This record gives sequence, C-alpha cells and structure tokens, in this order.
Amino acid sequence: MARKLMIAGNWKMNKTANEGKALVEELKNAVADICPCKVDIIVCPPFTTLTSVLEAAKGSNIKVGAQNIHWAESGAFTGEISGAMLKELGVEYVIIGHSERRQYFGETDETVNKRLKAALANDLKPIVCIGEMLEERESGKTNDVLATQLAGGLADISAADMEKIVIAYEPVWAIGTGKTATPEVAEETHKYIRSFLTDKYGKEVADKIVIQYGGSMNDGNAEALVSQADIDGGLIGGASLVAAKFTALINNALKGSAC
Ligand code: PEP
Repeated sequence: MARKLMIAGNWKMNKTANEGKALVEELKNAVADICPCKVDIIVCPPFTTLTSVLEAAKGSNIKVGAQNIHWAESGAFTGEISGAMLKELGVEYVIIGHSERRQYFGETDETVNKRLKAALANDLKPIVCIGEMLEERESGKTNDVLATQLAGGLADISAADMEKIVIAYEPVWAIGTGKTATPEVAEETHKYIRSFLTDKYGKEVADKIVIQYGGSMNDGNAEALVSQADIDGGLIGGASLVAAKFTALINNALKGSAC
C-alpha cells in the first residue's frame, strides 16, 4: 500500500525565534514547487520559536509541530506546555517520547501514553518515537524493547485514534551519531513494528500508519531508506537545521517514495 511520504525536522534545542523564521523563509522558497500531495513537510522548532515559524510558514507547504506536550489541561506544572496552548497557536503535530526525553528527562512509556492521549484530545497529530539502545540491539532484544514501548505507549488507544498517529522508529544508537541503520536493517524493524500494529489493530489500520525512520538520515541515504516498503519518511535532527540540506533530503526521499 502506498502511504504518503512524511519528512519532519526535529530542531531540538536549536534556533531562536529570529533564526527559525529565517530558516523557514529560506526553506519555504526551496520547497515551493514540491506538491503537498506527495509529501508532508513538517518542522518542529522549540516552543519559543513556534510563533515566528508559524507566521513564516503561513501559505506555504510547510507544517509545524512541537517537540513535547504535557498531559494536563492546565495547572501547577512549571515549565510545561499544554495541548490547548499548542492548538491555539496553530500547531498541527507534536513529537512524543523522543529518546532524548526518555534518556535525560525521565520519560517513560506511561508518560508517553498520557501525553499521547492529551495530543489526541486536543486534535494534534502525534509523532510517537520508539527505539532501542545499542546494547539492546546487540543482545537481540530489539523487537522485545519495541513491543514494550508500543504496548505501553499505545495503551487504551482505539483503532480510530491509531489512524491519526505517526510512529517514528529511531534506533538510539543512530541518533546524532552519523551511524545509520542500513536500509535492510531498518526495513526489517519497520516490518516488525507494522506486524505489531497489525496484531493489535488489524491489517487495514496498520497499512495506513506512517512509520518514519530517524537516526542520521541525510540527503545521501534518504532515497535508499524510503524506497523500503515499510519506511514512509523520516524524522530528521541535524540535517533539518540547514535549508539546503533539508531540501536535498526531501527531494531525494521523493525519488525513493512509492507515492
Ligand atoms: C532525531 O533527533 O530525531 C534525529 C533522528 O536526529 P539525527 O537526524 O541528528 O540523528
């Protein structure tokens, strides 16, 4: 089944409001001729850069996401941001459970699940990140780790809601390291993720779900990765911070896309 390509840039803690605006001004000109029917192009800046990026992206084919969401609607949660706050700004997507959140900020499958429910309740499109550590891959535990993350992260999520969710498979050992999973290794894991989703939600739903690859994806490897049957796009860190690199990655991914 041909799923629409989705390329999302995770800017992490990079780009001030003015820098983000400048990046999107450059990017929107560079991708202006790419048909939004072929690819969803998303940028996910830090919270403080969302407003200037949303303004700069207006009328373009660039969509905007946040990098986190709290599960409560409001209240005494210093430093956190609610779904209503994101929605009111005009944000469309939200990254949930990135490995850096899991590693440095105590994110668990349970908090991923709570944040996911808050995103859905606020009509935001969630990008749920999963992925194994190097030692887990080396000891043959990859599928078990992913199954645990999927079962916990997607607990109580209905099939109707599942269709609104994007999964980003990001092997932790490939994030920001320059080490990419080979297209074959990545595909084998994406296939496993889709089979987990098929068991839980049925083939019709699982076939519709976009599963992105993330981990040192760049303009040199995007085509080969995306040409795999179960790899529907990418979540991109480093290579999304320079307009020319991100544009080249998108154009090369389009060459590999079945859509
Ligand atoms: C990421 O942060 O989600 C990521 C994949 O980073 P990088 O592309 O830099 O490996």
